[in-house]
Amino acid sequence: MQDEAPSATAGDALEVWIDQDLCTGDGICAQYAPEVFELDIDGLAYVKSAEDELLQDQGATTPVPLPLLQDVIDSAKECPGDCIHVRRVSDRVEVYGPDAE
Ligand code: SF4
Repeated sequence: MQDEAPSATAGDALEVWIDQDLCTGDGICAQYAPEVFELDIDGLAYVKSAEDELLQDQGATTPVPLPLLQDVIDSAKECPGDCIHVRRVSDRVEVYGPDAE
């Protein structure tokens, strides 16, 4: 496994979602990228819209802002629940997360 081999090329629009069924609520993602992830009062992490609104529908996605890409990738890598999924918007292929190749 190569650390520096991104499976997405620059310019690919990416989005991220969380599988709350597996979230442990430790909050690592919210520490790494508080602009994108937040813990709700139910103790689980959710993605946020660009307007800072918590998105609580199951499988809800939010765009990954390019400046935050590394923080989001690190969150996905370190997520103890393996439940942060980053995928290409164009074909919905997961590029970081448990279902990435
Ligand atoms: S890092 Fe993963 S398990 Fe931890 S709060 Fe975030 S989504 Fe949940």
